[in-house]
Formats: sequence, structure tokens, C-alpha cells
Amino acid sequence: MSRPETSHLFYQTRQRRPVLDQARGVYMWDVDGKRYLDGSSGAMVCNIGHSNPRVLEAMRKQMDKSTFGYRLHFETEPAEHLAAKTASLAPEGLDKVFFVSGGSEAVESAIKLARQNAVAIGEAQRTKVISREPSYHGCTLGALALTGYAPLTAPFEPMMRPMPKIPAPRAYLDGLDPEDEATGHHYADMLEERILAEGPETILAFIVEPVGGASTGALVPPRGYMKRIREICSRYGVLLIHDEVMSGGGRTGKFFAAEHWDVDPDILVISKGFAAGYAPLGAMVAHRDIVANVLDAGGFLHGFTYAGNPLACAAGLAVLEEIERENLCANAAATGTLLKGELTKLMERYSIIGDVRGEGLLLAFELVDDRTTMRPLPRELNAFNHLVDIAYDNGLIIYSRRTRGGYCGDHFLIAPPMISTSGHVAEIIDGLDISLRQLLDRISQQRAQ
Ligand code: PMP
Repeated sequence: MSRPETSHLFYQTRQRRPVLDQARGVYMWDVDGKRYLDGSSGAMVCNIGHSNPRVLEAMRKQMDKSTFGYRLHFETEPAEHLAAKTASLAPEGLDKVFFVSGGSEAVESAIKLARQNAVAIGEAQRTKVISREPSYHGCTLGALALTGYAPLTAPFEPMMRPMPKIPAPRAYLDGLDPEDEATGHHYADMLEERILAEGPETILAFIVEPVGGASTGALVPPRGYMKRIREICSRYGVLLIHDEVMSGGGRTGKFFAAEHWDVDPDILVISKGFAAGYAPLGAMVAHRDIVANVLDAGGFLHGFTYAGNPLACAAGLAVLEEIERENLCANAAATGTLLKGELTKLMERYSIIGDVRGEGLLLAFELVDDRTTMRPLPRELNAFNHLVDIAYDNGLIIYSRRTRGGYCGDHFLIAPPMISTSGHVAEIIDGLDISLRQLLDRISQQRAQ
């Protein structure tokens, strides 16, 4: 079939992408029959792999019953069961689940719940949410105001309330040891300094990605950071929001990434891996006391039409069951350790790799000009675009933040589905090996010009 002139996407790259035909497990095929290994699970979404038969069957069954029930008219069985299941996975006390259709909606919901809670408890002067730089929390204006990434936010700054930002703890760039607790405290104490500088009575919340995503390249917090952040928030009555849109759902080896540090937030948000690409779904999960405050004061002034869609919730429930049945968190941890080890070995062959980081199967490597000083590659080399394209041509999908005119480092996320095996790890490493060699050739040609 010939391709129609496109009108459904705004293309910023010169070439149109191939048309997807089908996807199974960790592989995807385009309509020309070319196979790709999905080394980034889409955008860290398809955590349990593509076309899982049990999830598809659960969705078919739900489709035969109903595909929509408006939340103000009906409860639905899938939404009730998924809420209960999600609450059982969340930290103690966080048992109120609010469904949405994606990550940005979940972050908006968290901001608005936090704000309504402050008003309800007589602390209406709390209006600011502190976040980190760099970070990504979504593209709607509320979530964008928290996003620490100027190329995405700049045109909208005059329309948004400026929100305070503190540096993300990129110890590897600052020459600090992430295993040293003093490093974690150094970065966490920046939160306290900022709270004091702004006036503690004005701070509503602090939002943090427990393991960073696209903006920081799978940044893992230094030892002591998460606990100290929790203590600081509690000290000043600031709500702690964990943005687990990408890190939640098991790919770090625990269902919620913050479990690695045994730290509980007041509110958390989850989306990508929640229904793992089978349906648009996300959730805000809040502590019951916060929700009680807001309900007692008249109710939550917020909600999306598609919230709790039964088909999406049936998919989500089947995904969570699959993660448990197949022990996929444990597999993400084990396969992640293997993959991280192999990526680290690539450093011996490619001095251009300056850092390998991440947890479980939320991994990244960063390319640099000089590993000892972590001097970045010159931007005009455009490595963050080229390597993704080269790997794609080689049938391997990896992820970098590619925003027109934007740049937050030459880091690449390697995050295959949680069903990946050691054979898939070997394929990913082979694909990267070939692609890095081709990238180096290209860089030498560019430099010779
Ligand atoms: N928060 C984080 C940490 C994310 O990674 C993303 C998506 N990349 C979002 C929020 C926004 O999610 P969505 O694109 O589904 O709106």
C-alpha cells in the first residue's frame, strides 16, 4: 500500500520513519520485513515485551463486555481491581489510586492534589514545587514548569509560574564518589538550602525521579541522597512526590525504584510500564491522609474524561499479573546486571564511553571526548542523533533525548523489555559494538573536514 501524505505527526527530522508492521516479544518488524530489537522498549514503555498473549486475551475479554464507563456514572471491575493491586504494591499508607491516561496527566494530578491538600489544611501560602535540573516531568504546562530542561521549556516560560530548581546529583560529572554518603548529603542539602531561601512556608512539594530518565540518562542517586531528601521534606512539611513514570513498573529490579532505598514518598506517579504499551494508562497514588484532607474539604477538583477506562485498566491488571507470574522484576535485576557488566566491558574498547550507569534494565551510557575530565563531545558532532540513527539502521533501537535544538548530553538509554534473556543482551552488545565503530568512523571523517 502506498503511503499517504502524512498529516498526523509534526516531523522535525528530514526523513519519515518506517511503518511498523508487527511486534512480538523484544522484536519489531517494519512493513518491509526489517527486524529491530527494541532495546529501549519504545520510550521505556513496553516493559513486558510486545504482543503478550495473556494480556491481549484479557483485553479481548474486556472489549466484549464494555470499553467505556464514565467515572461519574459507574465503577468498573478492572478499575477497582487494578486500584487494589496497585495499592498493594505501593508503600504503606499510599492506598488511594487516581487513574489517568499518561505521565503528564499523572504529574498534573499530583501537583493539584498537593495544592488542594495545602489549602485544606490551612497552608494556602504553599504554592511552589521544587524540582531538579535536568529533569523531565511532562509536556503539559504544569508538568513542564517542573521540567528542568531549557530547550523544551524556553518558549513557554513567560506563560508559566517559575518554579525553583536544584541541581540533579550528577556526581560523575562533579568528580564525586556516588558510593560516599557525603556525596548524597551534599546534593540533598541543596534542597534544604533552597527551601530556606524560598521560605519553607511557601513550598508545597519536591518532585524527584528516583532513577532518572531521558534527561539525566538513568541517573542513580548517590548513597544517602534519597533518605536525606525524605528527612528534609518531612522537616518542613513539604510533600515528597516520586515521579516513577519511567522508573516504576519493575524495570529497575523493584516494582517502584524507590524501594531500592527504602524511602516512601507522600505521592507517587506511574505510567509507562503500568500498562506497558497495551493501553494509555497512568496513575497517581497518594497517601490516604492527604486524600482524606482533600475529600473532607469538598473533594478533588480535578479529573480526566478517560480516567479509569476499563479496557486500559484490564490491560494494566493483566500486565501486573504477568510481571508477578513471570517474576519479571527479578529478571530485570539479573539481566540488568549482566547487561550493565557488558556495557562496562565496552568501555575497555571505546574510550569515547565516559560512564555507564543505571539500575536493573534502566541503563545508560554516556559518550565523552575525554573520560578523565568527562569533557563532552563537541555538540556539532551531533553524536546523540547519529548513534541512534546508526543503531536503528543496524536493527537496534536505543534512546536518546532528541529535541530539535536541544541537548542534554550524549547519553543513550538502553532499556530492553524485562523479558530479555542473555541472548538478547549479546545481540544488543553486538549491535552497539558495530554502531559505535561506525560512529567513530563518522566522527573522524567529520573532524577531518
Ligand atoms: N515523567 C517522567 C519521568 C517521564 O519520563 C515522562 C515521559 N518521558 C513523563 C513524566 C511524561 O509522561 P507522558 O509522556 O506519558 O505524558
